[in-house]
Amino acid sequence: MRIGLGYDVHAFSPGRRLVLGGVDVPFERGLEGHSDADVLTHALMDAIVSAMRAGDIGALFPDTDPVYQDASSIELLRHVVETMRADGWELVDADTVLALEEPRIAPYRDAMRERLAGALGMPLDAVGVKATTTEGLGATGRGEGVAAMAVVLLRRAG
Ligand code: MG
Repeated sequence: MRIGLGYDVHAFSPGRRLVLGGVDVPFERGLEGHSDADVLTHALMDAIVSAMRAGDIGALFPDTDPVYQDASSIELLRHVVETMRADGWELVDADTVLALEEPRIAPYRDAMRERLAGALGMPLDAVGVKATTTEGLGATGRGEGVAAMAVVLLRRAG
């Protein structure tokens, strides 16, 4: 078995969609980034790639490659899962946490879990999503952006 930890941060930016865990969350700002800037899905991909000891998602999807301009991170996640399976691994469990002051995540949490579980090919109860504020501290506390952490457990397939 292997564990992998992923972490990502994106800054808020006006005039962009806010996509978290593959779900469009209504808010007056979105996240800045080359793809759809889905910080939660990015952390999850990094956790998987890290558990494979294959570096990070920057190596798989370079932000200098125009193919990934405004790319759907959920589609990139599907690609990571295919790569992981081809490398002889299967996912056992995944848990994630978002750090942000607003918007409130609770109404969208189960939709995010469903979307991520679908892309991961895992049952819903194997995928956790939760959110926390950082009590006004740091960049997330000042509402400048969103941070996400993810942890996954992989095992050798077969
Ligand atoms: Mg990112």
